Amino acid sequence: MTAVYVEQAKVDEARLLLERIALDFAPAVFTTSFGAEDMVVLDLLGRDLRTISVATLDTGRLPQETYDVWQRAEERYARKIVPVLPRHEAVEHYIRINGVNGFYDSVAQRKECCQIRKVEPLARVLAGQRAWITGLRRTQAASRAQLAVSEWDASHSIQKFNPLADWSEAEVWAYLQSRSVPYNALHDAGYPSIGCAPCTRAIKAGEDIRAGRWWWEDPAGKECGLHVQEAASV
Ligand code: SF4
Repeated sequence: MTAVYVEQAKVDEARLLLERIALDFAPAVFTTSFGAEDMVVLDLLGRDLRTISVATLDTGRLPQETYDVWQRAEERYARKIVPVLPRHEAVEHYIRINGVNGFYDSVAQRKECCQIRKVEPLARVLAGQRAWITGLRRTQAASRAQLAVSEWDASHSIQKFNPLADWSEAEVWAYLQSRSVPYNALHDAGYPSIGCAPCTRAIKAGEDIRAGRWWWEDPAGKECGLHVQEAASV
């Protein structure tokens, strides 16, 4: 990704929003999957704003590169990133019934795996929080085109903040490179969007940035259920 430039005013606006959340919505949680956007948000949080905790869904199927950047992030920001794992009984039951790679066999089985490894754990992360912060951007996917910076997430009953909603991919990379922020090494291997290892692949030039996620499914429905489009802008 060729870096361009991100205006300081845009950076300041995102940081000010995080400061406001830290003051007015504590306790709040930022969920990270260590993608490029999430590294920008983490860098904006920095070492302060401790009323905002940082959590990650460790599905048990993440690539090693994700664990590597997770460790580097904890070191750089002197923060413990809270790991949230799926319930082991549910994973064991799923594997007994569907096989260890059962998510390839049908959309229903893929969604059930995401439900067990991501959606249910996310509900535990958000329980008791007053706000949820994400690194989502509008241009990441057609399903995110209407994303607001601040919105009510009815499916989780929580105020959701997307400070990078109007950032471009180029601005994200300009930010990361200008500040030498660590990022997932898979981005340099053609992975713009990184999730679980068996469900993520590199994309070719010209392909949609989400083309490497669940590539065997219909592009229209490729979400894992974490970010449901029921939110109302505020
Ligand atoms: S992305 Fe794949 S491995 Fe990860 S939870 Fe969803 S179906 Fe399971």
